[in-house]
Amino acid sequence: MTADRAAVVTGARTAVVTGAASPHGIGRATALLLASQGWNIGILDIDGPGSEAVASEITSTYHVKALGVAADVSNEAEVRTAIDELEAALPPLAALANIAGVSSPVPYLELTSDEWHRVINTNLNGVHYVTRRVAESMVRHNYGRIVSISSTSAQRGGGTYSKTPYSVAKAGVIGLTRALARELGPFGITVNAIAPGPIATEIMGGPLTPERRTALTADLLVNRVGEPQDVASAIAFLLSEPSSYITGQTLNVDGGLYMH
Ligand code: NAP
Repeated sequence: MTADRAAVVTGARTAVVTGAASPHGIGRATALLLASQGWNIGILDIDGPGSEAVASEITSTYHVKALGVAADVSNEAEVRTAIDELEAALPPLAALANIAGVSSPVPYLELTSDEWHRVINTNLNGVHYVTRRVAESMVRHNYGRIVSISSTSAQRGGGTYSKTPYSVAKAGVIGLTRALARELGPFGITVNAIAPGPIATEIMGGPLTPERRTALTADLLVNRVGEPQDVASAIAFLLSEPSSYITGQTLNVDGGLYMH
């Protein structure tokens, strides 16, 4: 191991988490869990004040550094500026969790081009823009862990809430993950995806009602809807050292909704 790589594996290092500003979301749960495990945290979210609030919650609860910055993941220039800022303020960037995303319940025959592009630009291009910039930092110290959130909708063509552009973008995330596992593997970087099933956040049109929970649970083998912590735990594992022999994979965290 080179000195530079050793410092990133064993010393102070940072995990970048996108989409962590939402109070009940998967991103915030992930940022808090990673901070509890000793990671310094860089938050990137379209909601600047929300990002700063989660960062300050982290610094006051855990003995790590955290910084929250505002950026729209679908805007490459904003992403690059935001990651520059995180890199300048925090220890080396060693992990990335691509979590920011939007839902889209519009039926295909009512879909506008604007809606198609909004969803693809955020859920697929956004993952590419953030990953591309962070990977430039990771290759410098020959080490990195990247996890991107896909969805069971990629595998089942929707069926839970969001429809076609969401399925397409999330399927694209799986393709991107496999291609990057090949291209970035030689630089000591693992790249994986997680495909969550229904998780109790507000992305499916607001808080889940008891009736909606019951309806969603009917399709599951585990007798409950998932919680953000279920996904956060899987992300933390794939960003950890014990996962170092796993790359190019999609891990379903879906209560048994999809088996292949
Ligand atoms: P969430 O609470 O709505 O979190 C999404 C976060 O992404 C929010 O903080 C949101 O900010 C942010 N965001 C949205 N557009 C953005 C943009 N253009 N640039 C930067 N940040 C942006 O929903 P969640 O359920 O935790 O979703 C997290 C991820 O899991 C998403 O990729 C979602 O597709 C995926 N997922 C969720 C489920 C589920 O059942 N919950 C299932 C499968 C996959 P604002 O709140 O300000 O918009």
